[in-house]
Amino acid sequence: MIAPNKPTLLGIPFDANSSYLGGAILAPPLIRTAMNCDSSNSWSENGVNLAMPEIFGDAGDLELPADASAFPLIEQGIENLLAQGLRPICLGGDHSITYPIVRTFARYFPDLTIVHFDAHPDLYDEFQGNRYSHACPFARIMEEGRAKRLIQLGIRTMSQPLQEQVNKFSVEVVTMSQLPALNRLEFDGPVYISFDVDVLDPAFAPGISHREPGGMSVREALNHLHAIRGNIVGADLVEYNPTQDISQLTWMVCGRLLKEILGKMIAG
Ligand code: MN
Ligand code: MN
Repeated sequence: MIAPNKPTLLGIPFDANSSYLGGAILAPPLIRTAMNCDSSNSWSENGVNLAMPEIFGDAGDLELPADASAFPLIEQGIENLLAQGLRPICLGGDHSITYPIVRTFARYFPDLTIVHFDAHPDLYDEFQGNRYSHACPFARIMEEGRAKRLIQLGIRTMSQPLQEQVNKFSVEVVTMSQLPALNRLEFDGPVYISFDVDVLDPAFAPGISHREPGGMSVREALNHLHAIRGNIVGADLVEYNPTQDISQLTWMVCGRLLKEILGKMIAG
């Protein structure tokens, strides 16, 4: 049995809303094996030993169809954890999954702040005719009022149509060239972290579907993750695409990111 408030992994193997390359569907079990890889120890940088028994939970991977009927199943999977007082850490999957995840969080946390690491704003009203594309989740979240605040870090693909969406939804954007933003990450109320691996420079994490040069180093990303002050109630780690990886570089980065997210949520 898992105690209340425990961070709990939930794999969401789904990439049917990827606009360019498939492959993120393969990520959830690999992120787990990366975190547990014997090449490194089990400690997070903030001093949490993740090998301690019962320190976090694992609800396994959802079984999902590759179409729109997956979203209600994702909502149900999150509901099952939140109803027990657990704090889900969702392993994607493409970024479209954040919409059904946050829809469910919003029922428990109506004043949610989202801290969103990404090269892309993911705010398109529709993309290639798909309103549920991985390029659209934050448009759906914001137009439905599922989050009180959305802070985006590491953006480097802004366009005029996307800037109009930013203005429409009062999104707080910190572009790559405006970093660091370590002093802008203190929040009242519940915080959800959505981490798209492509926020990292592709030199550090080539295993993604959209390589955008000029991104964060792993160190910059971890420093911003560690700088968040607030009650972190959930997180996702999305867009790792193992089919594009080189020498398992991104695999190991994802293992580290998961360790640090867990350490952060456990140590507070
Ligand atoms: Mn994204
Ligand atoms: Mn992205």
